[in-house]
Amino acid sequence: MKPLGPVPPQFEAIEGELAVGGRKASALVREAGGTPLFVYSRAAIAARMEALRAAMPERLAIHYAMKANPYGPLLEFMADLVDGLDIASGGELDLAREAGYLPREISFAGPGKRDGELTAAIRAGVTLNLESENEAERALDIGRALGVAPRLAIRVNPSFEMRGSGMKMGGGAKPFGVDEDRVPALARQIVDAGAMWRGFHIYTGSQALDAEAIIETQGQVLDTAARLAQEAAVEVPHLNMGGGFGIPYFDKDRPLNISAIGAALAERFAELPPVLAETQFAIELGRYLVGEAGVYLTRIVDRKESHGATFLVCDGGLHHQLAASGNFGTVVRRNYPVAIANKFAAEAEEEVNVVGCLCTPLDRLADQAMLPRADVGDLVAVFCAGAYGASASPASFLGQGPAREMLV
Ligand SMILES: *Cc1c(COP(=O)(O)O)cnc(C)c1O
Repeated sequence: MKPLGPVPPQFEAIEGELAVGGRKASALVREAGGTPLFVYSRAAIAARMEALRAAMPERLAIHYAMKANPYGPLLEFMADLVDGLDIASGGELDLAREAGYLPREISFAGPGKRDGELTAAIRAGVTLNLESENEAERALDIGRALGVAPRLAIRVNPSFEMRGSGMKMGGGAKPFGVDEDRVPALARQIVDAGAMWRGFHIYTGSQALDAEAIIETQGQVLDTAARLAQEAAVEVPHLNMGGGFGIPYFDKDRPLNISAIGAALAERFAELPPVLAETQFAIELGRYLVGEAGVYLTRIVDRKESHGATFLVCDGGLHHQLAASGNFGTVVRRNYPVAIANKFAAEAEEEVNVVGCLCTPLDRLADQAMLPRADVGDLVAVFCAGAYGASASPASFLGQGPAREMLV
């Protein structure tokens, strides 16, 4: 037997069945027209935002990193909840504009920005988080050609990284940002060129569950921003402090202590060095805002035995939920939280392997999991599916095509 990850606490049973947004899974599937289906809960996202606002200092803006989930209705819903949107491609810029975000609320990071993407962003008035000197030069050239002062910030590749983060994106040789020691010269150059200087973006990692590690990193981010600004003799109108707030996916993962983070940040804000006294601060979060609000529902199409093991074969799989299969940046495969949705209140009574419909041994949704007795026609729920699900999985693999999505 292998443990399952923890089901997010907000999910309840109605008449024994998993409910999302107060509605039974089977009813949601019927309304959507079938499985596989991603369901995202407005109430869960709103509650998460409310708790976060309560924990963080008022001065701290909260941005949504839309790569976590770019589903249109969800993006529109987020627009009323967050203070800004972080994008990482021209395609995301188009989706953001369609969802009603204002250009000045949007910042655009990410390596490999094409000239066409830079042009669209500069023309719209979106802030660019520059990833290199080359990109800075191209942005300044495009701004000159358009007769527009581009809004420019520098993404810093800091000399430190976040302890215990699931995916490291700072420290050492990285394709992201400009190495710390070259930042002051570039900042000076951008200001002297007459661009609209916006400040720094310092992103150090993702999926951290250790509040102390995040507190330590945020302190280093503030120190670094202050030092770089002083060296360059520039102001810091805006500082994107990164994010990295994680969610519990696996057995023994504990929820992040956000009140500790908020309290430490409030202390730091109370004693800022003069160079940061007027700065607007932001964090950018993806999975923390939406990850636990989503459930992936897939129907069992076969139940079979092999060498004493039971397999529940579903109509979905890794082509929609790559991360749950263990193939999206994990070293050792562990089980996400999984349940039989229409038997949510029932006792676990047998060990089964839940697999997808793809003809590859990689397509596993739960290994050796204890679940209630389930049969053909029952619904499997994979939790923590609100981030890096539909848009981060190879939906075309084996000709399967995309899942349905729904915001309730
Ligand atoms: C991926 C990414 C995020 C979002 O990460 P989460 O772990 O989903 O919060 C935020 N900022 C940048 C720069 C990223 O690359």
